[in-house]
Amino acid sequence: MTTARKRIFLLGSTGSIGRQTLDVIASHPERFEAVGMTAGSDVASLIEQAQRFNCGVLGVGRQEAGDDLRASATAATVGVGLDAIGDLIEQTQPDLVVGAISGIAGLGPVLRSLSLGIDVALANKEPLVAAGELVTTAAARAGVRLLPIDSEISAVFQCLEGRPPEHLHHVILTASGGAFRDYPKEQLAQVTPAMALDHPTWNMGRKITVDSATLANKGFEVFELKWMFDLDFSQIEILVHHQSIIHSMVEFIDGSTLAQLSLPDMRFAIQYALTWPERLPTSYPRLNLADAGPLTFDTPDFDRFPSLRLAFDAGKAGRSYPVVLNAANERAVELFLDEKIGFTQIPEFVEHALEEHEPVDVKSLDVVMAVDAGARQAVSRMVPRR
Ligand code: NAD
Ligand code: MG
Repeated sequence: MTTARKRIFLLGSTGSIGRQTLDVIASHPERFEAVGMTAGSDVASLIEQAQRFNCGVLGVGRQEAGDDLRASATAATVGVGLDAIGDLIEQTQPDLVVGAISGIAGLGPVLRSLSLGIDVALANKEPLVAAGELVTTAAARAGVRLLPIDSEISAVFQCLEGRPPEHLHHVILTASGGAFRDYPKEQLAQVTPAMALDHPTWNMGRKITVDSATLANKGFEVFELKWMFDLDFSQIEILVHHQSIIHSMVEFIDGSTLAQLSLPDMRFAIQYALTWPERLPTSYPRLNLADAGPLTFDTPDFDRFPSLRLAFDAGKAGRSYPVVLNAANERAVELFLDEKIGFTQIPEFVEHALEEHEPVDVKSLDVVMAVDAGARQAVSRMVPRR
């Protein structure tokens, strides 16, 4: 018996997760097919990928890249802008959408996919931070699945599989500790973008690499866990584990703990999201624990890394606070990468934006995007004029 190939629409194909997803697709050509691909504005890479994967449906999120795409991809069906990307998904009717856009920009296409009744494998965490309830409600309403790609969330997914929720006691979310885990507070203020972009265990896009260094990324994963598995914030504990071998753990009510391990290579988690509930072989280097050396554990430092505390605070406050947490952070990270603000100002600016915010209920994508825009402006206004 031959199985039909899974038709995959890839949002953010030119990014770190996008390229690794294409690696996974290429490793099982008999099982997967890329039927749509989108980028932000990197048309040259998108065209190269489209040729390699024989993909005729292409989109760019940014309007300014539209002319370039139309001129370069004359044989393809093209869409320009996030709404047009949603239209491409509707026309293509894929079996699975992979959400690998960076930032809140991915929210619209993800909601659109879910409401079209299409399963989504999600790497893009910002939509779950800012609008977790909208995303999970859209999935539940359409009766479709959200499959985690983020390695920690995939670990919990794999540990929990097939077990009733009442068996769960709590989740132990592991954190590499970021590039500056041993830096004293004073030294953190001196960190440059180049230093922050050099992550010890994972090779990722720029924004998430900075988020990993501030530990904002770990705070965002708390939201992913909350929404993906319907947890309370009090059920999520963070454990620093430098080697990124244990991707997270689950402790059950009887005191037994399960962990999921692999080398730090996102392709394991990506492939599982693509094959679930099946497993297929992989040819990537495998974990050999005797070679891996000691695995170490430590508690996180909420004082040196205030982004962690801000995430829990905004999450517990709820309403539109998480939208501000995410948007203010996105803007602050941009400002840091542009060398307009220092590393330790990232959480400071986020905290100010949260303090200034007048919360509203988050009932729609429009509300999210309006609050998001306001928070970005608030952060931009905090930058000292030179
Ligand atoms: P990246 O910056 O390498 O790639 C982002 C992709 O999104 C690119 O294809 C880019 O062209 C596209 N994009 C950016 N802005 C866009 C816009 N406005 N409209 C349309 N497309 C746009 O980022 P990444 O590291 O691949 O991360 C992607 C997402 O996955 C993020 O949300 C990140 O937090 C999450 N994630 C990444 C990793 C990792 O190892 N890289 C691990 C876990 C989760
Ligand atoms: Mg992660």
